[in-house]
Amino acid sequence: MADLDSIVAEIAHDMRAMTDRGQVADYIPPLACVDPAKFGIAVIDAGGTPHLAGDADEAFSIQSLSKVFGLTLALSLEGSEIWRRVRKEPSGSAFNSIVQLESEHGIPRNPFINAGAIVIADILVSTWGRLGARQALLDFTTGLAGSPAGLHIDENMAQQERETGFRNAALANYMRTFGNIKNPIDETLDLYFHQCALTMSCRQLAEIGCFLMTGGVDLHSGRAVTTVSHARSIMALMMMCGHYDGSGAFAIRVGLPGKSGVGGGILAIAPGLASVAVWSPGLNAQGNSLLGTLALEKLVQKTGWSVFNPFPLSVQQIT
Ligand code: GLU
Repeated sequence: MADLDSIVAEIAHDMRAMTDRGQVADYIPPLACVDPAKFGIAVIDAGGTPHLAGDADEAFSIQSLSKVFGLTLALSLEGSEIWRRVRKEPSGSAFNSIVQLESEHGIPRNPFINAGAIVIADILVSTWGRLGARQALLDFTTGLAGSPAGLHIDENMAQQERETGFRNAALANYMRTFGNIKNPIDETLDLYFHQCALTMSCRQLAEIGCFLMTGGVDLHSGRAVTTVSHARSIMALMMMCGHYDGSGAFAIRVGLPGKSGVGGGILAIAPGLASVAVWSPGLNAQGNSLLGTLALEKLVQKTGWSVFNPFPLSVQQIT
């Protein structure tokens, strides 16, 4: 049986050869100009060992993946109180959909659609202020990333998100009419646009994701990052809502809690087994990484790591 290093190398090799790579997000130039040939994969196993291939050390824009970290911080601050302002249900809608907000009185379906993530950003701004919350997100991610080198907020990306963020401004203003945004719109959106501009590599993203794999514990220091119950909620939401209106297909094809971003990254967690980050900038029709999804599907086929598989292989069995 092939070991994990060989498996990720083989997947990267296969992905390099693919000609249909999807469409790179083109709503702002810094995303539109990313090379669609890029592909990276990082698997951190339960023992903390990284298995890397392709462009695993190249930084990219994590975009909506940051919603996982914002949610983690909001749960630490307010616990289950947050569910008064954002629900825990799949939306079946696009990432930036506004349609459900009217009939559901300004309460977004979940924290992973844009409306829900903007409410979460508002919660963080209420506690820390705009700049303090930005720093809290940076501290949270750099503290778990292993080596924080290169992990940063891309200010140019954030500005361009703001300049083109009319739909997000509409969502925030609309929710404010229902009283579900408490801070000035510009402050809450400023945090949201900056969190979308978080930039890091697959290796760093997979390192950060380890706190979910372990059920809330920093794999390296042993410190509690979040509670077991919050980690479970976050992963359940990733499974149900992490790929927008492609979440059902992702659950069937990959079977892992995962969160995508329009930068082409996906973080997927095999609880107790591995934290996995993939990056390929081209997206499918639902705005999720085309080859990233395929790579995860192949990984799960080779390891049996789907949470729906009663017989996943341990890393020891693979190596
Ligand atoms: N910056 C994007 C937006 O808010 C993030 C969307 C995503 O990554 O899915 O429009």
